[in-house]
Amino acid sequence: MLKHNPSFIERIAEKLHLIENLHKEESVELPRLTEPGELTDYPPPEQWDNWTEYEAKSGLRRKARNYMIIPTTCFNCEAGCGLLSYVDKETMRVRKFEGNPYHPGSRGRNCAKGPATINQINDTDRILYPMRRKGKRGAGEWERVSWDEVLDDIAAKIRAALLEDRRNEVVYHVGRPGHEGFMDRILQAWGVDGHNSHTNICSAGARFGYAIWQGADRPSPDHGNAQFIFLISAHLESGHYFNPHAQRIIEGMMNGAKLAVMDTRLSNTASMADYWMPSYPGSEAAVLLAIANILIRENLYNEEFLRNWVNWRESLKELNPNAEVTFENFTAELEKLYAEYTPEFAEAESGVTAVMIEEVARQIGRAGTRFSAHNWRSAGSGNLGGWAVARCLHFLNVLTGSVGTVGGTLPSAWNKFKPKGFSTPPAQKFWNELHFPLEYPLSHYEMSFLLPHFLKENRGRLAVYFTRVFNPVWTYPDGFTWIEALSDEQKIGMHIALTPTWNETAYFADYVLPMGHASERHDLTSYETHSGMWISFRQPVLREAARKMGKNVKFTYEANPGEVWEEDEFWFELSWRIDPDGELGIRKHFISPYRAGEKITIAEYYQYIFENTKGLPEKAAEENLSPLDYMRKYGAFEIEKAVYNKHLDSLSETELEGAEIDSENGDVRKNGKVIGVMIDGAARTGFNSPSRKQEFYSATTKDWGWAEYAVPTYVKSHIHPENLDASKNEIVLVPTFRLPTLIHTRSGNAKWLAEISNRNPLWMHTSDGERWGIKTGDLVRVSTDIGYFINRAWVTEGMKPGVVACSHHIGRWRRAQDAKNNRWSTNQVTIEEVESGKWKMRVVEGIGAYKSSDPDTSRIFWTDGGVHQNITFPVHPDPVSGMHCWHQKVTVEKAHSGDKYGDVFVDTKKSFAIYKEWLAMTRPAPGPNGLRRPLWLARPLRPTDEMFYVENSNT
Ligand code: SF4
Repeated sequence: MLKHNPSFIERIAEKLHLIENLHKEESVELPRLTEPGELTDYPPPEQWDNWTEYEAKSGLRRKARNYMIIPTTCFNCEAGCGLLSYVDKETMRVRKFEGNPYHPGSRGRNCAKGPATINQINDTDRILYPMRRKGKRGAGEWERVSWDEVLDDIAAKIRAALLEDRRNEVVYHVGRPGHEGFMDRILQAWGVDGHNSHTNICSAGARFGYAIWQGADRPSPDHGNAQFIFLISAHLESGHYFNPHAQRIIEGMMNGAKLAVMDTRLSNTASMADYWMPSYPGSEAAVLLAIANILIRENLYNEEFLRNWVNWRESLKELNPNAEVTFENFTAELEKLYAEYTPEFAEAESGVTAVMIEEVARQIGRAGTRFSAHNWRSAGSGNLGGWAVARCLHFLNVLTGSVGTVGGTLPSAWNKFKPKGFSTPPAQKFWNELHFPLEYPLSHYEMSFLLPHFLKENRGRLAVYFTRVFNPVWTYPDGFTWIEALSDEQKIGMHIALTPTWNETAYFADYVLPMGHASERHDLTSYETHSGMWISFRQPVLREAARKMGKNVKFTYEANPGEVWEEDEFWFELSWRIDPDGELGIRKHFISPYRAGEKITIAEYYQYIFENTKGLPEKAAEENLSPLDYMRKYGAFEIEKAVYNKHLDSLSETELEGAEIDSENGDVRKNGKVIGVMIDGAARTGFNSPSRKQEFYSATTKDWGWAEYAVPTYVKSHIHPENLDASKNEIVLVPTFRLPTLIHTRSGNAKWLAEISNRNPLWMHTSDGERWGIKTGDLVRVSTDIGYFINRAWVTEGMKPGVVACSHHIGRWRRAQDAKNNRWSTNQVTIEEVESGKWKMRVVEGIGAYKSSDPDTSRIFWTDGGVHQNITFPVHPDPVSGMHCWHQKVTVEKAHSGDKYGDVFVDTKKSFAIYKEWLAMTRPAPGPNGLRRPLWLARPLRPTDEMFYVENSNT
């Protein structure tokens, strides 16, 4: 009898129970995917300088291509996966990108967006030279200028602001970060409080929920070793760190882990789950607390972890001051606190059945310390009180003792490597209230999406405003208010867009400066993709190829296409010119550590970091390489294989010198602060919270005016059914889901990705379609509080009834006057201010084929560029975390006569009024001791401690 040899795909499908086990007679022992085997066949590194392959496109002819293989790091999302660039030695062009097997996070694998980097670098519409605005800002007229002119002009503006003490007018606003501390040292060398980020429209909610427990503001799940995995939203296909996470979730499942997914949509992730929990948006915390209730009631919690690592004594004293301080009284208090969160209550709130909630709870209890969980954007970023979802999810980790364990969920800070710079400028003595206003003392982090409103209210102005890989006009809510602010030269004196591609925000810049894609720049990344700690080197591969061939390249733009540069060198040169004679004290931070008095080079900057990276010099020496050459060769380095249980690290003798031990609760105190915890006679470092424990009761929350949220609580969202008017047919729009093949602005010039994903219809359940008389493909008008957009319906059973959803990735646009750009994905539109503050956008031309040097541009078959929905949303700043609450209360109806697909209307006066409504919900600083913000809470670009006090208002 012929025996069927199972294919790799079959074996995975069997193991994941997607198909029946066809090979029961065999005991199929799968190799762990981390080990070499099928699909892990890469050219050996000793041949990377001279690797020959036959050209796939050459048909029957055997056309050999000789490559130099140079590693770099993907730049298409935050995961920072490794890439190998295949540089054709004959043409000195990159032919393709594949995964880098030496990258500890991605282990040779990528999602579709990694290899599509080749599309981005070959995009025929890309910006190749620095451009300066000619006419009115936003009019679309540009002229090419030299890098020298650019640097001199901007440096003079910054120098003037510093000399005239207008330091808070210099601002760097980042979309896609990287660099690992690079910009902090630039801005602190300049002495400005000028860092602004996109965090508040992305992850501030989840970050606050985690930070309030333990200081670290992200979860780092060890999915590969988990027994039960709980995901809020579609992390398997499109979540944070999704390729590195996805491969480990699948590994965990192949080793027997069960997966629960709480997602309103039947996403690809939900379709892989053992438990799909289609919760009503905003009700997630109710479900999580019902699970907590079961874990407590059924004694499925980890008593040892709670006793040692939760601030239960302080919690009990606050919750029940009359009770004797015993652990038993604490657990009795817990039971009372969460008794109301019955599975039936959670079912009524969420729609997830009580039976499923109970089953999942018991699975979590059984998994114990091997329970991994993740919530990032989604519920955390959609809802008023979304931060409470992350907090309640982490509560389950705390109850099961799965914090920092094998198969559990680690605090992110344990995984992240912080490079050591060669010169550390002092913290700035400024506090920029445009970023950290008094109304949001606990925000994570800068209130970036309120900036145009703050400018409108004359809270300040910007003299020099850098946007770096950042496109708020398109990605943020309320884009027309951004257009109004960016168009006003009184509010923003100079706007400089540092970007690899044209975008809707760059249209309103004074300079558009082309910065490299993944293979055209230097950078460092280190993220909490799994239980290890790693560092990855992004490098300009053509420059590195030239170096290997003995060519001298001074600046990266000499090796890149056109004059595409990179930020690192740009900032060095700019800083040097701001302070030509060193009198401002800036230059001294840019002097080479290797050549006295000379300006540092980019190679020296990374040489210093790699020479000071734990274990890297020794590893490099094994191959007779310098640390820099090791990173140039392999592109990544594993600093620690596993970072479990770091809270159990012992305090050193130096740390313990002069410390006192609290005999009641084991706190180790020094200089008025808790620095560790005594456990079984040993002084442990603990977590990064003020008590060094997991803070069930948060004194911070109470002290800063939110006593009702002092313990993990369910916060009813702004889109809770109680807040919707059924008589007006109001319904919730979930606008946050990602398409796995797209990434915000940067995938707009990747043809393979645009070919796969090019529309964003409105998902609605069949029952909703029936009640509204809407079928798939019908035009619908979706009205928000400030306007509307016209989209097409997609009627599906894969959506929760009573909720609609639309992906935010699509709907890119350009106007007739703008450079033709991203034509794989941009509609041409007209924009008109029909009366003051009332803006209309109409699509006049969709996507279509065109002639260019790339034959594929004449093969474009799709015509749809999707609809820009975010621009119709008002700002919804959560009063606690500062997160923009993305979910929208909308009405859905058939399109009106005259409506056209892609139409958008917005009234920015209404959006300003809604901003004021939400602002009124805040409880502003000062907090205890006149502080603007708790001293212990992290803040990017942290100023000196004195600036945390309101009285020191050097703004
Ligand atoms: S997961 Fe992110 S970093 Fe990794 S290949 Fe995909 S886009 Fe690139």
